[in-house]
Amino acid sequence: MAYNHLPENYHLHREIDMRKDKRIAFWLNFIGTLVFIATGVVGYFLHPFTDWMVFDLYQILALILGLFAYIILHELIHAFFMRLFCKGKINFGFHTYAAFAGMKSGYFTKLEYIIIALAPVVLLGTALVLLNVYLPTAWFWAIFIIQGQNIAGAVGDYYVIILLLKTPRATLVNDDGMSMRYYTGEGHAVRYDEDPVDEFPDLQ
Ligand SMILES: [Zn+2]
Repeated sequence: MAYNHLPENYHLHREIDMRKDKRIAFWLNFIGTLVFIATGVVGYFLHPFTDWMVFDLYQILALILGLFAYIILHELIHAFFMRLFCKGKINFGFHTYAAFAGMKSGYFTKLEYIIIALAPVVLLGTALVLLNVYLPTAWFWAIFIIQGQNIAGAVGDYYVIILLLKTPRATLVNDDGMSMRYYTGEGHAVRYDEDPVDEFPDLQ
């Protein structure tokens, strides 16, 4: 279960702040670009570029609208799962190149946060695969370029999951959209309610 406040005995384990750590932001963008190119190569084998010739105005418009709608849907899905696990205020925003959704007052368990982080890429990815299968082949690239954005644009989500997998089981995640904190609860192993001082109330 998620919490609306940090429970007692939890302490900060790690903080990732994309605004401060420009190096991580740079590498995530770089890797994202490579992944986007790689999806293009996969697409080429599925459907060679000769079909660019039938790329008409409707498909170009659909692609531009689709790329824009994708960004909004991706963040809305993160937000939907955050709200599902924790009743708190969602904050949406843009920071230079990236859109974000976060919940300042939410502290999610490891499993909850993995679902929150992966839900957009899995759900939208499945929807795009279905569109690719059921729409006429002339639409292949208009859909597949959005799929490339889906897979490559989620590098930040993959990154936080990889870091999260290395944390202890009792970790809680707080994500305000642009920065994230992992809190660990090792303190729970200590029984503070059995503090020996209480057994000697006369000691001054
Ligand atoms: Zn995301």
